[in-house]
Amino acid sequence: MFEATKGLGSYRRLLAAVQPYRPIFLGSLLGMVALASTEWVLPALLRHLVDDEFGKDLGRYFLLLPVVLIVLFFTRGLMSYVANVGLNALANRVVMDLRAAMFRTLVALPTRFFDQRTAGEVISKFTFDVTQMTQAATNCLTVLVKDSFIIVALIAYLVYINGRLAVFLLLVAPPTAWIISKVSRRMRQLSHRLQGSMGAINAVIEEAIGGHRDIKIFGGQDYEIGRFERAINAARKFTMKVVSTNAATEPLVQACIALGVGLMVMLALREAARGSITRGDFVSFVTATAMLLPPIKRLTNMNENLQRGLAAADSVFALIDEPIERTEGKAPLAAIRGALEFRGVHAGYRDSPVLSEINLSINAGEAIAFVGPSGGGKTSLVNLIPRFYEPTEGEILLDGQPIAACDLRALRAQIAYVGQHVVLFNDTIYHNIAYGALRALPHAQVLAAADAAFVTEFVAPLPQGFDTEIGDKGLRLSGGQRQRLALARAILKDAPILILDEATSALDAESERRVQDALTKLRPGRTCLIIAHRLATIEGVDRVVVIEDGRILEQGTHGALLKRGGLYAKLHALQYESAERADF
Ligand code: ADP
Ligand code: MG
Repeated sequence: MFEATKGLGSYRRLLAAVQPYRPIFLGSLLGMVALASTEWVLPALLRHLVDDEFGKDLGRYFLLLPVVLIVLFFTRGLMSYVANVGLNALANRVVMDLRAAMFRTLVALPTRFFDQRTAGEVISKFTFDVTQMTQAATNCLTVLVKDSFIIVALIAYLVYINGRLAVFLLLVAPPTAWIISKVSRRMRQLSHRLQGSMGAINAVIEEAIGGHRDIKIFGGQDYEIGRFERAINAARKFTMKVVSTNAATEPLVQACIALGVGLMVMLALREAARGSITRGDFVSFVTATAMLLPPIKRLTNMNENLQRGLAAADSVFALIDEPIERTEGKAPLAAIRGALEFRGVHAGYRDSPVLSEINLSINAGEAIAFVGPSGGGKTSLVNLIPRFYEPTEGEILLDGQPIAACDLRALRAQIAYVGQHVVLFNDTIYHNIAYGALRALPHAQVLAAADAAFVTEFVAPLPQGFDTEIGDKGLRLSGGQRQRLALARAILKDAPILILDEATSALDAESERRVQDALTKLRPGRTCLIIAHRLATIEGVDRVVVIEDGRILEQGTHGALLKRGGLYAKLHALQYESAERADF
């Protein structure tokens, strides 16, 4: 619905967003137009009163007029209600649609996108920018339709009373328009910066919530408070710049209008002296002119809203248009064996290359361990397999088929993954194991996976068992419990390729050994890629690949590498020594 179309500005796209709700839209427009087109009735009534009724005998209008007034205000109230509620119903639907479209893009964005932005920045697009945009749109629409109709209706009425006078009012229009157009550009720039500062505020709050323990231990309160105050101060400054630019424009515009009105009153008095207008005409004319001012004022203010809304729309549509992951491709064979091959793979992040010239053949069903100093590129390497990142050079083949040509969903369906940072969702233990596509699996299978990852043993004593809510990011669990949950999820997926990135690092030696046993039982029939620092945990794998500085340094079986006396042997000796020392 919100697809980018070349040459269409934010205006048109917003209008496209309204399309599905045309009946509500037209209804509220109609309400506004009806409301606006009765605006002239009041000055007309006054004119009639002054010229025809005032000071005369109580005629037949004595009772009729109040009734007319009451009916008039009642129907106007009704129309105003329809217009208001209709417009807001529409705006809120559009907010919902936009947020849904943004979220659909969000979950399909490549990992790269998230590397470059703070969560706060993205969240403020969903909260602040969308509402800014629709509020502005609602406001502008009201002004544009209702107020311009009021203005047209009143001016038409003025022309009807006395054309020459009315023309004077129109002379004010060009200079006013000129001032407004001058200010527009600055307004929009300021609004963009205001949005940026809202994102910064969110980002600091996010970090303060996520890192509250570290903030306390390392005495970061003052630093964070300072950072936050700078962010809110920046937001205040930008808001003030918007306000002051607007406030400076307004008197200028009002002065133009006052000039016009002043001249008009002068002329009106002259016309009256010449006898070409009646008292009633005069009263009615001045009333109608006075009634013109509020809508004109709103019209001149509209610019602020419009620019703010357009700036917000730019930000919202930019997220919706953000290129999502390329998912199309031929689906990999239904029965994947799980043979992987890296052919001259280079990869990296933005400007920093990490992996270079990786050539590696992994047989179907092989268990392979990646070891090496941290920062060497192990995580970066395994992240290429589910295509979180794409290689800059070379290719990766799955069962002989380039994964770049695979359907992304189908590819990922073949991979179970426990990342270096365990990710849990604010849900029950059960649903953290049976997450996403796994939700459909039978209960018994979920429990079996929980058993295999030793989740059951810490869940059993809990009063609500598997239905226990684990809190935001699983904060109500210990680190080891979280890892076991993530493992259970991977076990439940039962995919031909299993990637474990330091997946047992937070477990105590005892649970680690047991989880390891469980994983060993899982290994047959699937390709396992295991990254581990504790070398003792990977002794049983078929092959060890040592990675340093983004290159494969050496590879072979545990025994062969020990004999070779290279980096692996050195790492092994170090750990063995420290383990011995720990025994004393
Ligand atoms: P390992 O898992 O072996 O410890 P990584 O693959 O995590 O190493 O990191 C390899 C290098 O890539 C490091 O120098 C790290 O700074 C860099 N790196 C990792 N992730 C990112 C990222 N998302 N953006 C930019 N650089 C990254
Ligand atoms: Mg890593």
